[in-house]
Amino acid sequence: MISNKVNSQFRTQLKARFFDLMTTDEQGGWSRFVEGIESIITDSAQAKKACIYIYNKAEDSFIPISYTWNKNPLEQEILTYQDWLWLCENQMVMGTSVIACEHSNQNDRYLIPLWNHDETYGYISISHSLEENVVLSDLEIIGEEVSNVYIKMRTYFQSLDDEKRHERLFKVTAKFHSSMNMDDVLAEIIDTLRQLYPVFDYYLLLSHDYSSAHELPIRELVYDSDGGNKSSAQAYLTGEIQFEESWNDRQSCFYAPLKGKQGVYGVLQVVAPNTVQFVDEDINFITLLANTAGNALENARLYQQSKRLITDLQLINETTHKLNSNLRLSDTISFLSNQILHSFQAEEVGVLLFQDGNVEDFQVLQESSPFFSQAGSERLVQYITASIGEQRDALFIGDFSVKNPSFYSPYQSIMAIPMIQSESLKGVVIVMHTMPYFFSFETFKLLQSLVHHSTLAFANSMLREELERLVSTDYLTKLYSRKHLDEAVHKHYDQDQDGSFIIVDIDNFKQVNDTYGHQEGDRIIVEVSNLLRQEIGNKGITARWGGEELAIYLPEVDVNEAYKIGEELVRKVRDYTNPRVTISCGVSYWDASSEGEVVDLFRRADRALYEAKESGKDCIKHDQMMGK
Ligand code: GH3
Ligand code: MG
Ligand code: MG
Repeated sequence: MISNKVNSQFRTQLKARFFDLMTTDEQGGWSRFVEGIESIITDSAQAKKACIYIYNKAEDSFIPISYTWNKNPLEQEILTYQDWLWLCENQMVMGTSVIACEHSNQNDRYLIPLWNHDETYGYISISHSLEENVVLSDLEIIGEEVSNVYIKMRTYFQSLDDEKRHERLFKVTAKFHSSMNMDDVLAEIIDTLRQLYPVFDYYLLLSHDYSSAHELPIRELVYDSDGGNKSSAQAYLTGEIQFEESWNDRQSCFYAPLKGKQGVYGVLQVVAPNTVQFVDEDINFITLLANTAGNALENARLYQQSKRLITDLQLINETTHKLNSNLRLSDTISFLSNQILHSFQAEEVGVLLFQDGNVEDFQVLQESSPFFSQAGSERLVQYITASIGEQRDALFIGDFSVKNPSFYSPYQSIMAIPMIQSESLKGVVIVMHTMPYFFSFETFKLLQSLVHHSTLAFANSMLREELERLVSTDYLTKLYSRKHLDEAVHKHYDQDQDGSFIIVDIDNFKQVNDTYGHQEGDRIIVEVSNLLRQEIGNKGITARWGGEELAIYLPEVDVNEAYKIGEELVRKVRDYTNPRVTISCGVSYWDASSEGEVVDLFRRADRALYEAKESGKDCIKHDQMMGK
């Protein structure tokens, strides 16, 4: 150590100036400190310019420390460690350590090494004008003092940085735990990075479907094998951080995967100008933030997923609950198509039933949306039913025009789900939208599940209605059953003012059976029934009363009118049956003045019929002819 009076004065002054710098200029941070220290050196050494170079392990070179923040292009040549050793051996070493380099036109250049525990960690490069006198001992003192101050201050600023980082990390983590909004968390992370490391540029490489409300620097993550950026893909696929140097672009990149607990959700790309080195602490910190982002994305995604699952389940639950509450088929279908229109924002919903599992023989239920009953819809519908018949599986088309370029369809998004019950194809639900790719795969799965759950309810409704029809219809003649007619007459008796009842009996039917056989007898009953149905139409209710007896109720038809109708029936049967049979009819009538109940109405008709038989058959009688 150099010590004499002049020198110790110089040293004291230098220390005082460093002390001032350390105590007054905390706000400016590291960069201001470096600026300050370099200007004190320049001043004290009466130099033109002083610059501190610090050894960088990764580069194996001495890098000017002011460089990272002022971004000036390099003025002086960067020395590698090897260069440094060569200089130490081959250049003139003045005093204990100062190296005098070659002179340039106007300058002398001196390198003063910086020591820490006998190891050179950097040097000060000083340029002097040629005419200036250099005080070697001053340079050595500067070297000793700067060595000291630099190490101390760097540690101090590093701990300040650490504190700042941890404060920010705490803020980000707090945000992350308080918000389910991944956008906010990502914005906070990017903001933190920009504040802590303003030198770098940041990009979030996310999958294509991420849309953000903030102005986030989002780029699409491309990770197919040949296209896109290899390192980002690598980071995404392996979940490991990746580095990439690009000398052409004069930049280096660092890719940190956005990793959650269950997977990787994207990549954070950090871009640095190529002269800036990524330091371990920074990499660790940025990786930590990237992981926080990964967890935020994962949480938000899980949250969205569970929210969607809940609404899906609610929809299925509500639908099946409703469907199982003994609705009529038409109500069942209406309800289901409304649910689909509403929940999936579909434009068209069609429900088609297949006859005996045959996809070519379908019936479009009237609860389907209007498109399905429009002229011109058949071609598309047939295309869909044919596909269902072939595949026996659901159909999910994102863009119909791409799949079938030669086939015009106004609807590009098409889903068709077969209704399968006990392994037989009952029908199909078709859901469509004009926009391509309108329905997501999740929607498709949900629709499948909905239809699956509803099919049993459909089948039940269909069976029930079939059964009801069977109960009110006569199997042989397809006329109404006696039970149905009986109930209908009771209803009219309560509601109306009057009405007529005709009972019809085929004459000598025993003989018909005997002549033509029982089967032909049946056919003749059907023939007579058809004649009656044609003749009566909507005027009344025609039923099979039992055996070869038929009956007609004519609401609000008086006895004369009924009698005429009956006469006409007698004539038609006589003229149009083959083999020819005849009938006899008995008519009864009721109005407000009638006494008795419905049974009496039947009984009176029966008596009139007996009259008709007695008077030679093939004719009609009404009860009033006999007196009440
Ligand atoms: P009429 O009424 O003119 O007095 O003589 P009928 O021969 O028709 O006598 P009746 O009404 O007493 O007998 C009805 C016969 O019709 C008895 C039965 O064999 C026959 N019959 C009843 N129901 C059916 C049926 O569903 N199919 C066939 N083929 N025959 C039936
Ligand atoms: Mg009879
Ligand atoms: Mg008879």
